[in-house]
Amino acid sequence: MPELPEVETVKETLKLHLIGRKIIDIITPYPNIIKTDLVSFKAKMINQEFLDIKRYGKYLIFELTDISMISHLRMEGKYYLRERPDQFTKHEHVIFKLDDGKFLSYHDVRKFGTMELVEKNEVFNSLSLSKLGFEANDPNIDVNKIYPRFKNAKRPIKSVLLDQSVITGLGNIYVDETLFRSKIHPQELAYNLTKDEVKNLLINAKVVLDKAISLGGTTIRTYQSSFGVDGRFQNELKVHTLVGKPCSVCNTTIEKIRVGGRGTYFCPNCQKLKKL
Ligand SMILES: [Zn+2]
Repeated sequence: MPELPEVETVKETLKLHLIGRKIIDIITPYPNIIKTDLVSFKAKMINQEFLDIKRYGKYLIFELTDISMISHLRMEGKYYLRERPDQFTKHEHVIFKLDDGKFLSYHDVRKFGTMELVEKNEVFNSLSLSKLGFEANDPNIDVNKIYPRFKNAKRPIKSVLLDQSVITGLGNIYVDETLFRSKIHPQELAYNLTKDEVKNLLINAKVVLDKAISLGGTTIRTYQSSFGVDGRFQNELKVHTLVGKPCSVCNTTIEKIRVGGRGTYFCPNCQKLKKL
């Protein structure tokens, strides 16, 4: 699944190709990806120009002349730029024909991805974005505002960090890496953490995400970005996917457990449960 750094890479790559381009037609082999009424989706988007592409958490926000489109890639969505119609494959569900003769094509084997149109000044009031918490790499993130969400959570810290309404943008890979850096066991109950520990967690989340963004994200078997752009953060992973390997800090063998149904990697020596 693409996480925040991978979506950032997709955004930057799409910007290079799309800014200034106009949509002249939309073809929808599988229109269920589109959550806005299809007739109005087409009517509002055709003849619109791509002015900018932004990202919030794992959402892409396409800023067009008069309207914005919010898109989530979910499990396996990818945007491709196609030169010719004979390059389309059977998993391409929404295709935007551009004024330079090329096509922006949305590919999604699992069909879980979404697109919806919102008025430009309503992006953050939309159903998708209004429930999201602070972005994990927001430099202005305020521990005093977030700490109550931890203090009241009798859930494992890993589950709280994956809850996008608390902090948005941390997925399975980066939560494991953030907890390792913070020396916190993934099953530690969130309400056991002190404010300083939460502050330290937030700092580490930002370090991990910023580093991953600078390396173009993580390419592991579950995700490869569109345009064949591979990330390099997989070389920086300290615990995620490394079960059976020695911890880089203490040499203890990395273990894998399940927390909230998610495969979770940690060092049992560096990340001990608190004795309360
Ligand atoms: Zn260790």
